[in-house]
Amino acid sequence: MSVDSINTVAVLGAGTMGNGIAHVFARSGYRVILRDVEKKYLDRGIETITKNLDREVKKGKITEADKPAVLGRIEATTDAGALAAADFAVEAVPEELDLKVRLLKEVDAVLRPGVILASNTSSISITQLGARTSRPERFVGMHFMNPVPVMTLVEVIRGLATSDETFQTTVALCEKLEKKPVAVNDAPGFVSNRVLMPLINEAAFTVMEGVATPEAVDAVMKLGMNHPMGPLELADFIGLDVCVNILDVLQTGFGDPKYRACPLLRKYVAAGWLGRKSGRGFYKY
Ligand code: NAD
Repeated sequence: MSVDSINTVAVLGAGTMGNGIAHVFARSGYRVILRDVEKKYLDRGIETITKNLDREVKKGKITEADKPAVLGRIEATTDAGALAAADFAVEAVPEELDLKVRLLKEVDAVLRPGVILASNTSSISITQLGARTSRPERFVGMHFMNPVPVMTLVEVIRGLATSDETFQTTVALCEKLEKKPVAVNDAPGFVSNRVLMPLINEAAFTVMEGVATPEAVDAVMKLGMNHPMGPLELADFIGLDVCVNILDVLQTGFGDPKYRACPLLRKYVAAGWLGRKSGRGFYKY
């Protein structure tokens, strides 16, 4: 399917990433069918989109009149049958293989045969997910960054069976969203997390070994390397549980102990110190 024949996009999951993805598609003029399992998750997603649109109005990125127009293009639903109208679909449900496979099979059965199905997974193999659908050649990774309305990168990941046409259409679609697509082949952690997670992990080791405080580690990376956020601040933002899960995927995927998650990260997760979302991680919030 060519990018110009895409008008309606299904977004599966209205959480952190799903509501951001719905936001950017609707802002670029696409009709969006936003699906989650319960109305309360959809309500929370729409509330977040509304707040983020308010911020964009204040910053002059969109006009006051754009806001109701963007919201008007998003249809929030719990009905899987509604997805039949979609010309493209992106899943952003939690990072659990079984859950994703179940959801993908369900969506695959409803979508028209020519429609591309994309996954926003951070670390699960695109090849493996695509193989569980009836459309592996029309399955692709579309890895948006958090917060989606602000961050310009999208890693576009080719699974083993992803067709050139699927890849090109997805790249063109990212450009319609005014994002910068970067081509990546399927491998554990893709590029973003394969490079970022060892950095975060090493920062955690330096704290665990008493080399420096979290504040000092972050100051070195911000002031010395011009990183806008220190690695431990960023880890708290991402979620320490998410970081440990991705390191586990890297270690298992490559069979290489260099990706072994720092015991301090595991200890914090065991204590419920998950970062910003739980009020405490390397820092208190
Ligand atoms: P989240 O937990 O905030 O949201 C997931 C949403 O999916 C929830 O609202 C949940 O109710 C919904 N859901 C569960 N089962 C569903 C189903 N069968 N149908 C429709 N909706 C369903 O998770 P998130 O942080 O938005 O992550 C989603 C995906 O994006 C994951 O694969 C994650 O790895 C990836 N990702 C996350 C980030 C991040 O920084 N949070 C960044 C990039 C990629």
